[in-house]
Amino acid sequence: MVIVLLGPPGSGKGTQSLRLVKHLGIPHISTGEMLRAARKQNTAEARDIAEHIDSGRLVSDSLIMRLVEERLAGTDCEKGCLLDGVPRNTTQARMLDDLFHRRGWVLGHVVALDVPRTELVSRLVERAKVQGRTDDTPETVSRRMEIYEQETAPLLKYFTDQGTLKRVPAVGSPEEVFRRILAAIGGQAASCRCRE
Ligand code: AMP
Repeated sequence: MVIVLLGPPGSGKGTQSLRLVKHLGIPHISTGEMLRAARKQNTAEARDIAEHIDSGRLVSDSLIMRLVEERLAGTDCEKGCLLDGVPRNTTQARMLDDLFHRRGWVLGHVVALDVPRTELVSRLVERAKVQGRTDDTPETVSRRMEIYEQETAPLLKYFTDQGTLKRVPAVGSPEEVFRRILAAIGGQAASCRCRE
């Protein structure tokens, strides 16, 4: 079974993903991390990725799906995985549905982290000081928020219609949020299988 973690920038997807994969014993597939590694190459594609990340725009759906499909072919993904940062729009969600269908995989849970916008902004300001991410500047953060609203938020309806969405209030301590996520998904490592 595959789990998807959705949430706006600053919602704690990265932190909660790390806890979840440790608890469930499945690989963490973060498209943001994959792209930050890919941008370090000295190629035209790497420069294009860097430009998109630094301006807060989404990279192309075809590139993302190529990276994700290659990664999901890894033997460590046979028992399932956690997708963090993908899908980012309904095109990617449909492409993933198609990939899962071809592989005979089941999309188990989609967990959406809900955080009020004012709280997100103050978290991102803090993160910019601590982590120094190139895309945490005020202009880029506001573009990423806009893109989240326009492109990613419609996925909440998409997955509600599919019957897979669990919404989790992601305020309070990381431990509290983690417990809410576990409660939302049933919390058992044993239920986390690709094929059912
Ligand atoms: P994240 O670490 O998930 O916040 O992603 C950082 C940046 O990587 C995003 O602002 C996008 O530029 C890019 N990115 C990550 N995941 C995707 C995706 N699924 N589709 C398109 N762009 C992505």
